Amino acid sequence: MNEKYIKAKEFGFKNLEPYSKAVDIEGRFPIEGYKSMQNEGYFSLLVPKEYGGQGENLLAHAEICLGLSESCPSAALAYMMHNTATRAMALYGQEDIKKEILKKVVAKEVTLGLAYSERGTGAHFYIPDATSKDDGDHVILNGVKSMVTGAGFVDYFLTLVKAEEDDSLHVYAVPTNIDGVDFEEGVWDGVGLRGNESKPMIMKNARVSKDLELKNIGDEDKEIFLIGLASVSAGLAQRAADEVAAYVQKREYTHAKNLADIESVQVNLGSMYAKAFSARETILAAARLADLSPLGAFPELFSARIVSTEAALDNAVDGMRAFGGKGYVRHDLVMERIMRDSFAGQIMAPGTDVLKIWLGRMLVGLNYIDIFK
Ligand SMILES: Cc1cc2nc3c(=O)[nH]c(=O)nc-3n(C[C@H](O)[C@H](O)[C@H](O)COP(=O)(O)OP(=O)(O)OC[C@H]3O[C@@H](n4cnc5c(N)ncnc54)[C@H](O)[C@@H]3O)c2cc1C
Repeated sequence: MNEKYIKAKEFGFKNLEPYSKAVDIEGRFPIEGYKSMQNEGYFSLLVPKEYGGQGENLLAHAEICLGLSESCPSAALAYMMHNTATRAMALYGQEDIKKEILKKVVAKEVTLGLAYSERGTGAHFYIPDATSKDDGDHVILNGVKSMVTGAGFVDYFLTLVKAEEDDSLHVYAVPTNIDGVDFEEGVWDGVGLRGNESKPMIMKNARVSKDLELKNIGDEDKEIFLIGLASVSAGLAQRAADEVAAYVQKREYTHAKNLADIESVQVNLGSMYAKAFSARETILAAARLADLSPLGAFPELFSARIVSTEAALDNAVDGMRAFGGKGYVRHDLVMERIMRDSFAGQIMAPGTDVLKIWLGRMLVGLNYIDIFK
């Protein structure tokens, strides 16, 4: 029962947790945890079996992201980005290049990420200002992607651009080691999820082979992305409840009983646990449904991201209250990191405002994406 979730949680507490405090304080990529996930084989989860991968489904992705998020949400976020890009490559990549890249993923030689967001279009990350220009069997890419998780550590970023010739949209797997691709240093100092190294990616006349274009892109990779984002929040909600449960038992007064004996504290904790549990189970249910009915579970996937984001935010507020003054000492107890990470999780697009609009529009039979055009 949810075996992969339990295993990923144990793996995370053993391999990611020891670094998560330093990652947060230093605002650096969780490279130790990222490498240990790669060594464990987690990065080949969604690579099809024909390329040597595990060929796993959405439920497996959900369980693992949930488990990893409880110890190091920054590492889990980078992992879910890789899984999303891997799924997109497997579905829409051109055969030769797909084979080459996915086999390298399985051989633990490369990882993937996403470079979609831009300053100009913000939350509407599917409308790029970055451009491509035809150059025979190559394209020339120009533009800046604003917050790219794993900048400097990921080998290929799936990058959305607009063709100069006809404004059509294209996604290329851009290698990060080519001329014309750079990451802006010294600008990332996030409040939460500080381990993401979400730096701007600058493309200045970057020449990329047309073989690296993903073709006939559909929505299957979006299922993976929504589950991953939701899981990071649900993991944070669970960790907050667990931390409060442990802390209130230790907080003893000289004049009276400890915090855990106070009824309103118990009520608060019960509420936190219930929210974390319902967030996790909503994600697992949505993933199961999406496995059974590909592209048929977007209302449930949107709901899962909404419910889990709100659970993380609620538990961040309730958790900080339970920790009292001690919780406000910076970098001392983990609750304040959970609070900051929960607030960062909510602004990652598509956020809850956008998702509620999309969900409402879907429920009344309107095209949800039209609202932005
Ligand atoms: C830790 C972290 C990691 C990230 N990693 C990546 C990554 O790897 N790759 C990547 O491409 N991007 C990444 N991002 C970028 C992230 O997705 C952007 O923050 C996002 O696109 C929001 O852009 P913005 O801040 O300009 O929001 P804005 O567009 O300025 O929007 C601000 C707020 O306005 C509201 N809003 C905006 N538009 C609408 C609308 N149409 N309807 C209703 N409400 C709306 C929302 O509440 C939104 O939160 C990351 C961000 C963070 C914080």
